[in-house]
Amino acid sequence: MDYQAIETQYSVDIYPKRDVTVVRGKGATLWDDKGNTYIDCAAGIGVASVGHGNEAVAQAIAAQAGELITCPGIFYNNVRAELLKKLVTLAPERLTKAFLCNSGTEAIEGALKFARHTTGKHKIVSAMRGYHGRTMGALSATHKKEYREPFQPLPGGFSFVPFNKLEKLEAAIDDETAAVLLEPVQGEGGIRPGDAEYFAAVRKLCDERGLLLMVDEVQTGFCRTGSFFASEQFGLDPDVMCVAKAMAGGVPMGAVLVSGRIESLRGLHGSTFGGNPLACAAALATIQYMEDHNLALAARESGEYFLSQLNIDSMSKVRDVRAHGLMIGIELKERVQATLLELMERGILALPAGPTVLRLLPPLVIEREQLDTVAGALNELLA
Ligand code: PMP
Repeated sequence: MDYQAIETQYSVDIYPKRDVTVVRGKGATLWDDKGNTYIDCAAGIGVASVGHGNEAVAQAIAAQAGELITCPGIFYNNVRAELLKKLVTLAPERLTKAFLCNSGTEAIEGALKFARHTTGKHKIVSAMRGYHGRTMGALSATHKKEYREPFQPLPGGFSFVPFNKLEKLEAAIDDETAAVLLEPVQGEGGIRPGDAEYFAAVRKLCDERGLLLMVDEVQTGFCRTGSFFASEQFGLDPDVMCVAKAMAGGVPMGAVLVSGRIESLRGLHGSTFGGNPLACAAALATIQYMEDHNLALAARESGEYFLSQLNIDSMSKVRDVRAHGLMIGIELKERVQATLLELMERGILALPAGPTVLRLLPPLVIEREQLDTVAGALNELLA
């Protein structure tokens, strides 16, 4: 069956497609419909951190599917209760409650509404090169003009400042500003980290001016950068933290974690599927697996190992390498597309992050041999 022709015919044309039909996965390996294998350095764009076909997660999903799949937020639920408690236990100290939803962009939408509601103010400042999602609110906070402009008018009150420049942020804040929204490491924007001193100064500024500090850990969360949340490493102490992607092992799920400053929104926000028992069970099993196998440490060690296998000094096509655990960006002196295609021909799936950055977000369970293969291919292709 020609699945590619069928998708092309019946799907709204949204994604630039690659010539591969993925049908199965195990760990960091993917299979296509012709039986070819690939080393997966995309992981569903940072989702499959515990690996594809993770048995603990698959079993938890199957068991919960037979027990109870859906239970709206108006009722209490055993699995949801357990997950909420677990999330708050793992999150930065200030964060004491969570709202469960279904994706990254929906977590950002929630955060934006919480910020407006709590402060009574409407303006949000976010960073240039920042990415927060595609729905109207999250899109308004996303810097890339090409994503926003075709959909004007978007909600108002959003502005952008250069990342890591405190004076610019200070200058952008006024009496109508509700919150500052930042990624610890900008993902889609090219794997660009924030400085710890900057984040500390932003926290101080937010306290002085009565603003909320909101952190987008959708891509960096759940062990990706070598700690459970990147906020720990970067000295970030947010009032609001958005997560999603790797949270439930691939089952769609997001969450907004909030401090005691966020006021009750009873009746003012909601989601039919948010916090459903199926996703909660998947998340609990995913988090358990991450803890049992210390995937934060695995991300750190595998990231360091991978870097040690790259011959960066002899890579003439490379401008810079930025790695945080297994969130790796290789900035090229040329556009990245040709290298992505060449990698695919060699059985390696990788991602771009902007026009010139090659991004690797493999499952955190990727094996050393697989990292050797990827490093070997890059050493040749980027020499
Ligand atoms: N924030 C960040 C930092 C992201 O990387 C993404 C997705 N790439 C989102 C938000 C949006 O998440 P989703 O695609 O699940 O809506």
